Amino acid sequence: PEDQFKNVISHAKEYGFVFQSSEIYDGLSAVYDYGQNGALLKNNLKEYWWRSMVQLHENIVGIDSAIFMHPSVWKASGHVDAFNDPMIDNKDSKKRYRADVLIEDHMEKINQKADKEVAKAAKRFGESFDEAMFRKTNPRVLKYVDQVDAIRTRFVKALEENDLADLKQLIEDEGITCPISGSKNWTEVRQFNLMFGTKLGSVAEDASDLYLRPETAQGIFVNFLNVQKTGRMKIPFGIAQIGKAFRNEIVARQFIFRMREFEQMEMQFFVRPGEEMKWYEYWKEHRMKWHKLLGLGEDNYRFHDHDKLAHYANAAADIEFNFPFGFKELEGIHSRTDFDLGRHQEMSGKKLQYFDPEINKNYVPYVVETSVGLDRLFLGTLATAYTEETLEDGSTRTVLRLPLPLAPIKAAILPLLRKDGLPELAREIFNDLKFDFQVQYDEKDAIGKRYRRQDAVGTPLCITVDHDSLEDKTVTIRHRDSMEQERVSIDSLNQRLRELVSM
Ligand code: ATP
Repeated sequence: PEDQFKNVISHAKEYGFVFQSSEIYDGLSAVYDYGQNGALLKNNLKEYWWRSMVQLHENIVGIDSAIFMHPSVWKASGHVDAFNDPMIDNKDSKKRYRADVLIEDHMEKINQKADKEVAKAAKRFGESFDEAMFRKTNPRVLKYVDQVDAIRTRFVKALEENDLADLKQLIEDEGITCPISGSKNWTEVRQFNLMFGTKLGSVAEDASDLYLRPETAQGIFVNFLNVQKTGRMKIPFGIAQIGKAFRNEIVARQFIFRMREFEQMEMQFFVRPGEEMKWYEYWKEHRMKWHKLLGLGEDNYRFHDHDKLAHYANAAADIEFNFPFGFKELEGIHSRTDFDLGRHQEMSGKKLQYFDPEINKNYVPYVVETSVGLDRLFLGTLATAYTEETLEDGSTRTVLRLPLPLAPIKAAILPLLRKDGLPELAREIFNDLKFDFQVQYDEKDAIGKRYRRQDAVGTPLCITVDHDSLEDKTVTIRHRDSMEQERVSIDSLNQRLRELVSM
């Protein structure tokens, strides 16, 4: 999988999906640009989400709020005081790390040692891995398991109590070394706020401090009443939004999995107090179903329920996806209670309440939110679609098996030869289809090479124009996954594409 991941990253660059930001200046760490094919794929993912959330739900509407917000928003939301990561510096290498990530990696290493022991035992006794695991007679395995349990207990306690001194002590007691220098010479653990600050106004003295939003949710909370009133929305109802968010992530690793500038697709669902658990369960199931319908493989998803809750939540779960580097968070579903609206009501002095005619009562609604990272969805889709195949004749091809409606280019129109009037007919077909579909015209190189190029960007259909086409007005459609070909009339192309590649 490690190698596969490297291949996906270089493929993403080579075929215009993802570039490092400002690459000619050696790049900007954890910031990326989407290229010509990446932008199309990303737009398709957005559209797929927006349609299923906004268009298909009568009681969900979408907005587009500004990235800049009044500074008080972030005081009210708790981000100024509590949106922190515990950081530690290594004095010798001068490198900065997230203390929690160092400890998690350390636990992971111990787990790997335990796995190795289990595998050895399994081999010795002719058992499967699971049998050897459950037999648990191997004292060396038990030692590792106990060790990890002890670290985890202490770790969770330190995080919950925000005990930075004990986090540092844990790192020392475990002898955790700097991944780069191998040194154990650590500084104290400090809290590091993840928000980017900037200034509004031209004169330094008058300028006020602003933050780039670290989540899109607050733009929805402050507009709750505007939307509810102007849209005449009745609880329960939702507000959806797609937009950029910014976090000064310290450990920015794993390509577009953790970025400093990224995009979220969020929906805040406003409910009657006391009914939040019902809706929390509803949205958990509904969002999981949505992901599975994408067609990337049902086994690639799982829930992770949180034991440790953020300051605003009374229940939280992640939908995790099987990325090339293991199962990791793709989407969060949080029951946020009336925390946000309550805090904004308090700070702004404006009533953020709803009159519920069914129970004849005013209240601050409770919120259940679904929040998915668009870039993570992109990465999961790309990595899963990426396939290297050996064909029957022994040759290999790289193909992106993207779900058809998500493919950047829906069909490529290819004249077999660059003469005899074939390009003219192919162009005619291209000009006809381009109003309804993202299509591409390509006449350069031999036909086999052009097929491979389209495979590599995931184009589901190649439409080839040959000499017979001039006579009988038919063309060949070649299918990306099966590589099978069929002959269809030019007149039926539009309808055929609609059937195969529409959302
Ligand atoms: P993590 O634990 O991975 O840092 P989080 O729990 O802080 O994520 P949320 O605040 O719940 O994330 O944000 C909702 C979603 O936004 C996440 O599920 C993820 O898909 C996406 N997301 C969060 N941070 C980043 C980032 N730095 N880069 C890309 N996507 C992100």
